[in-house]
Amino acid sequence: MTEKYSYDVVVIGAGGAGLRAAVEARQAGLSVAIICKSLFGKAHTVMAEGGAAAAMGNVNENDGWKVHFRDTMRGGKFLNNWRMAELHAKESPDRIWELESWGALFDRTKEGKISQRNFGGHEYPRLAHVGDRTGLELIRTMQQRIVALQQKDKKEFGDAEKFIKVFSELTITEILKDGNRVSGAYGYWRESGDEVLFESAAVVLATGGVGKSFKITSNSWEGTGDGHALALKAGSALVDMEFVQFHPTGMVWPPSVRGILVTESVRGDGGVLTNSDGRRFMFDYIPEVFKDKYADNEAEADRWYKDQNNNRRPPELLPRDEVARAINSEVKAGRGSPHGGVFLDVSSRLPAEEIKRRLPSMWHQFKELADVDITKEPMEVGPTCRSGGRNAWF
Ligand SMILES: Cc1cc2nc3c(=O)[nH]c(=O)nc-3n(C[C@H](O)[C@H](O)[C@H](O)COP(=O)(O)OP(=O)(O)OC[C@H]3O[C@@H](n4cnc5c(N)ncnc54)[C@H](O)[C@@H]3O)c2cc1C
Repeated sequence: MTEKYSYDVVVIGAGGAGLRAAVEARQAGLSVAIICKSLFGKAHTVMAEGGAAAAMGNVNENDGWKVHFRDTMRGGKFLNNWRMAELHAKESPDRIWELESWGALFDRTKEGKISQRNFGGHEYPRLAHVGDRTGLELIRTMQQRIVALQQKDKKEFGDAEKFIKVFSELTITEILKDGNRVSGAYGYWRESGDEVLFESAAVVLATGGVGKSFKITSNSWEGTGDGHALALKAGSALVDMEFVQFHPTGMVWPPSVRGILVTESVRGDGGVLTNSDGRRFMFDYIPEVFKDKYADNEAEADRWYKDQNNNRRPPELLPRDEVARAINSEVKAGRGSPHGGVFLDVSSRLPAEEIKRRLPSMWHQFKELADVDITKEPMEVGPTCRSGGRNAWF
């Protein structure tokens, strides 16, 4: 027999997007089902490494939402949905402060403010972070917020799950409709295969991207674009599906770590890209439009890390697609390694202890999985799929 539930809102997906939507719905007094096809907390959000972009101006006071908006539009070659970019630039500082008020412990500046680091395409240090494990802290905080709301409901109504219930390891396979209106969702428990039906006038699709569709990817088995398929089958149009992000620096060698992301903060914190001759080739690939903004020699690029206001940015921090293009050109021109990649070196740039402090996951992960010690040797890198496949419109 099919299990049946009824909620004001059904949120499909328990990554950052789904959990934040669920909190908002509960705060509006609505009952919410949160559904995820793997364990609660096991979403791509947990894998995010380098940080969350928010123009708080904590490290460089010249930063602000307008600069962030401009960087986003320019990085997106003005193809972006400008209103989304505007909302993101304006609201992200509030979201970071909100996370902090819910218990997130971000790294700090010397003055005790939330620290911000450099990332590709961002004019100023802008990424709020927790070492290179930012997503873990985000998901932990959001889960804690959900539990806190449940505890409050228990105190007030005697039932922790009266308003928010989590259904984990449950896969949704269909959005239900009554005429033209969405009326719920249907799926099955992964363990038993038993069917489950949710009645709801509002269904939020927060199922993440399509990254696992690509052969070389940093995504896990969950990133198969289920939400896109559900929306399409329910009659919606999919837009901007070509916006899939290929991160310029994924591991290519050894095969045990192929596709795993090397966070952008490796470059943001001083790592440099070299070809197999050891040459910092990114100076060859600065597009005309960025020439006045980026250092054109190594000495200037290196000075920039010490004095950001009086030197132009290093070319390693060009917008991501320019970096990916440069890496591909090197490989095509045969200047990459025999395995087809180029090198990202932080070992010659920072003391070992500093690398372990700023990039603990990178250090552990590649040592354990590939026997590559990033405090002593460069990583061999090439583009890998990170996330994407964007919107569904009902
Ligand atoms: C390795 C890596 C590093 C990254 N680093 C950064 C970074 O530093 N900064 C940054 O801004 N971004 C980063 N990203 C991108 C960022 O993590 C994602 O864009 C973001 O987390 C997506 O959040 P989400 O909530 O939309 O999806 P996800 O976190 O992917 O959550 C999707 C949820 O949907 C559920 N789901 C999917 N299909 C179904 C179904 N059929 N039924 C039920 N549930 C379903 C899943 O179980 C999961 O709970 C990184 C991504 C990766 C992979």
